[in-house]
Amino acid sequence: MALAAALYILTGLGVTVGFHRLFTHRAFKAKRALRVTLAVAGSMSVQGSVIAWVADHRRHHAYADREGDPHSPWRFGTSAAALARGFWHAHMGCLFARDRTNIKRFAPDLLGDRDIRVVDRLFPLLTITTLLLPALLGGVITLSWWGALTAFFWAGLVRMALLHHVTWSVNSICHMIGDRPFASRDKSANFWPLALLSFGESWHNSHHADPTGARHGVGRGQLDVSARLIWLFEKLRWASHVRWPKPERLARKQTDPDSSPA
Ligand SMILES: [Zn+2]
Ligand SMILES: [Zn+2]
Repeated sequence: MALAAALYILTGLGVTVGFHRLFTHRAFKAKRALRVTLAVAGSMSVQGSVIAWVADHRRHHAYADREGDPHSPWRFGTSAAALARGFWHAHMGCLFARDRTNIKRFAPDLLGDRDIRVVDRLFPLLTITTLLLPALLGGVITLSWWGALTAFFWAGLVRMALLHHVTWSVNSICHMIGDRPFASRDKSANFWPLALLSFGESWHNSHHADPTGARHGVGRGQLDVSARLIWLFEKLRWASHVRWPKPERLARKQTDPDSSPA
């Protein structure tokens, strides 16, 4: 269980801080070792190779909830049946669609980065590692095959499945249910129950209102572990040029004056 939690946190933050805030939105600049580490950690979530993930997510922002969005729950209409179908599509159905994002168009910067290209190519190897590593550690720690097997199950398979569902929930639930304190062209929403497990990514309406911001939980008391980690990286001087949210900018986009940004 401890292994499962540790790997959930490592790979989850690899996705939120690395794949999402650093590589997709360039919310900060990171030193080379940190960039590579975040790319590797994110790849170990098995949500696709880093460049493909970034290209898909940039396309999501470019077309959010309109035609061209790779995963909008509103794709099929607004009736109950259409929304049920749309929820499934946004949550995980889109993975099986034959709809490939043009990487040259959406992620030319990463294609031009040698380090990131190497990590991208190592994706199959990192997928094997993320599943075999817990089995190996479980076996070594308990000195038993049973320990290897249970660690493989909980810290390998279950951990990976849980993080997948949390990430997919940001694509599905956070474009359907929740608060919308900021004006935005799409249906993104802030869904507080997922804030902890998603490391702050479920403040999704705030994110669509200010995509390049390093902190998504911009309201008072809105938990955002990813932003805390970026803050720590900045203090350690591993990260620089961090785009912290600007209150004036946020105030301009606000629809509900009661939920003032902290
Ligand atoms: Zn979104
Ligand atoms: Zn985003």
